[in-house]
Amino acid sequence: MARSYVLHFVHCVFSTTEKILALRRVTAVGLLITVAVPILLRGEDKSESAPRDLLSYDLRVTIEPHAGSIAVQGSIEVPLRDPAASNFRFNLHETLAIKKLLVNGKQATFADASVESEIPLAASRGVVVDIPAGTTGGRIRMDIEYGGRMKPLPEFNATDDWRHALDDQINSRMVELAGYSSWYPQFSFGQPLQAALTLSLPQGWIAICSGQKLEDHVARGRALTRWSSPKDMDIVILASPSYKKKSIQVSGVNLEIYYTQMPEKFIEQEGAQIAGVLKLYTTWLGETNVPGGTVKHVYSPKRKGQGKAGFARPGLIVTSEGLTLEGLASDPKFSLFQGIAHEIAHYWWNFGAGQGDWINEAFAEYFSALAVQQLVSEDEFRSIMADYRKQASGLPAEAPSLATVPPMEQTSFVIRYYKGAAMLDTFRQTMGDEKFFLASREFFQTYSGKPTGTAEFRSFWKAKLGAQAQLIDVWLDSRGGLPLTPAQGKL
Ligand SMILES: [Zn+2]
Repeated sequence: MARSYVLHFVHCVFSTTEKILALRRVTAVGLLITVAVPILLRGEDKSESAPRDLLSYDLRVTIEPHAGSIAVQGSIEVPLRDPAASNFRFNLHETLAIKKLLVNGKQATFADASVESEIPLAASRGVVVDIPAGTTGGRIRMDIEYGGRMKPLPEFNATDDWRHALDDQINSRMVELAGYSSWYPQFSFGQPLQAALTLSLPQGWIAICSGQKLEDHVARGRALTRWSSPKDMDIVILASPSYKKKSIQVSGVNLEIYYTQMPEKFIEQEGAQIAGVLKLYTTWLGETNVPGGTVKHVYSPKRKGQGKAGFARPGLIVTSEGLTLEGLASDPKFSLFQGIAHEIAHYWWNFGAGQGDWINEAFAEYFSALAVQQLVSEDEFRSIMADYRKQASGLPAEAPSLATVPPMEQTSFVIRYYKGAAMLDTFRQTMGDEKFFLASREFFQTYSGKPTGTAEFRSFWKAKLGAQAQLIDVWLDSRGGLPLTPAQGKL
């Protein structure tokens, strides 16, 4: 809790330019997977107890899709930043009313306040809670009951202004809830957390949530499921009465793909894509955390929403089914290969925090391009890198440097994703493949799980670049477009 931990939460909300790029066709995805050794993905031990500095949620959630309403009873263990503090605060969706709030079993007073968040939250309010006298220790337990109807807002990509858009929704067609709406008490956006969730929906509804499913049964007309995610950064609920499920075992990887309208053929080729990309990243970077050892890809039946392959959480990818169908309608060879490879890369690249969130995006974007190079073709890779350089070259001279780029602004996209990926490509060319991949693996293994900023990135890669160490400052501190000419920087 000492540092805020903003991740790639809206990383795939694209501007118009990005939507055009998203349509860049990646061909030849008939991957032949002939893997002898199963890919090892760590499943989590659900008996693990929460470290004292980890936020821990235990939520019972009842959703009435037809009424558009949600009711939550929860108990949350909160590590306090300042053990002597007289109050603490969180953000909560502005239309959800708090009916009960206890701190360590005692009634606590609370009041609405302005939102404090490093990223724009479309429909959130702050809540300040007074800590009852006599409460001691740096960790408190908050029992809370709240509920109501969520504020309806247009989906991302249905409007030009992200600040007034929201993918989260509850209606008779679908439920999608993630950190974007602050549907649960949010202490800092994307902070590491552990979550246990019990969900009640009308019978016939199919739910996919964060973490591993522990229980699934029907009682008194309700579909009840229980979920556990000991090492997460968000609490995601996806549900629809129309979800179809495809289970695939490829090369030792369990995949579950959920969709309502996607063509079967499209879904089938995806299994091979995901398995191929997981194997590649595991070979380069080592194992990462996938709850329950199963990767879930959900085509959420929204019409617009975040572009490309949507957004990623541990073991989970959430993609807009509507945008994907639109892509297929305009180009029968439309592929999500690179978008999915980007989201899978976030299973590894997710520890860049605050301003250093660009680290997550630069690595995820560059590794998705490397996946194209390995699994699709060298030509495609070259055309992707040429696009990145072209986009980054077009940045205005006053555009912020990577070291100062804000994490979540619409205009910072090209800097964080494309200039960042161009920098990593320069490092790879400078160091050679062997050293670059070993250093990437060491960077992941050294910093994974520890909120990491630009300063850590700078010192780590400066050491790895040795004689070429000056490249780091040149790339991190230059404003505007690409800092080096091809001759200077092997661009
Ligand atoms: Zn991303």
